[in-house]
Amino acid sequence: MHTSEHSVNTMSTDSEFRVAVMPGDGIGPEVCDVCLKVLHALVTRVAGLQLMTEVLAGGAAHYRDTGVALPDESTKAAEDSDAILFGAMGLPDVRMPDGTEINPQVTLRIGLELYAGVRPIKAMPGMPLPLADPRARDIDLVIIREQTEGLFADFQDKGTRDGDTAVDRCVVTRAGTSRVVDFAFRLADFRRSKGRPGHVTCVDKANVLTSMAFFREIFDERRGNFPTVDAGHAYIDATALNLVRQPRTFDVLVTENLLGDILSDLAAGLIGGMGVAPSADIGDRHAMFPPCHGSAPDIAGIDKANPIALLLSAAMMLDWLGERHHVSACLTAATRLRQAIERGFANGLIRPYDFGGTHGTRKIAQTVIDNINTR
Ligand code: NAD
Repeated sequence: MHTSEHSVNTMSTDSEFRVAVMPGDGIGPEVCDVCLKVLHALVTRVAGLQLMTEVLAGGAAHYRDTGVALPDESTKAAEDSDAILFGAMGLPDVRMPDGTEINPQVTLRIGLELYAGVRPIKAMPGMPLPLADPRARDIDLVIIREQTEGLFADFQDKGTRDGDTAVDRCVVTRAGTSRVVDFAFRLADFRRSKGRPGHVTCVDKANVLTSMAFFREIFDERRGNFPTVDAGHAYIDATALNLVRQPRTFDVLVTENLLGDILSDLAAGLIGGMGVAPSADIGDRHAMFPPCHGSAPDIAGIDKANPIALLLSAAMMLDWLGERHHVSACLTAATRLRQAIERGFANGLIRPYDFGGTHGTRKIAQTVIDNINTR
């Protein structure tokens, strides 16, 4: 389906991008709906920005209703798109026979080889932060989560259950680890050029697990290719502690799939929670842009979801499209979107429920749109 409501300029040009939109479950459709409105505002304000959006079916509710979590047409349209904007999928009460949930996002990450889960954690001026230390304002780090193997390798019926024993493997391959640690080194080098420290921490449990000792070994081999970047190691348990005690000391962290899953939620907590934590799932050919959060069934349908996480993911999408295709309008739009959000927090005009405020999903999005229009 072509969402003519949100798209403009139907004539195809080199810089017109097709964005597959997968709203999914719970608050996913609510935050996607307002995100499309914000993108529409950007398209009307930024010369040369052209987006065609197509909303696709999929998710736990779709599985409950049809027996299929991700229709083939949705997968195909996502593959054919230039980028995927993703809400959230999964509902705790919709489960497979083995007790696991419906996770089409994991299917897509593995199927489209979106190996680098990029989770930036950055405080914005005006955001009320949970840490009392005023230096928390300087938090600016990125977690890179390997997303195609590790402890998720047995996803989809490869884990075994035999009587009273269930087993999932942690699979670490040279190819899978090399590409994700290289990604982290390149990112740190780029951040160094922008004034950040340019340091990568390999986070693992190499003191106990063979698979993670191998992850560390490959990290050490690859670091030689990036002489301008500093590198070090830390165990996952110590990292959990130090992210809370001294988060400002981290720059880029790279880690295994499940460790990255857990660590990125912890890190989101440092800047106020899931409502403001964006992410990007990047591969060599495809990329998907979901918020860090899930479908939040506890607040679904009551206009209380904070859309900022997805809006920041949309800014990452515009950056990625702009850099990949050399289209400056996308980069301009990404900057304008971030500035609109930052101005909203700095002026006290964005006060989401999850920050103790009273502004709902639609009101926050409208403030962002107003800021885009009145720049
Ligand atoms: P969750 O991220 O959905 O919610 C955790 C907590 O954060 C809840 O209290 C929720 O209200 C709050 N929260 C999340 N997003 C918010 C937002 N935008 N604004 C304000 N508050 C927000 O995690 P969960 O409760 O563990 O999982 C719920 C469902 O989502 C599960 O079915 C899970 O499998 C699924 N899930 C999906 C994804 C994904 O699609 N990428 C990621 C994580 C969880």
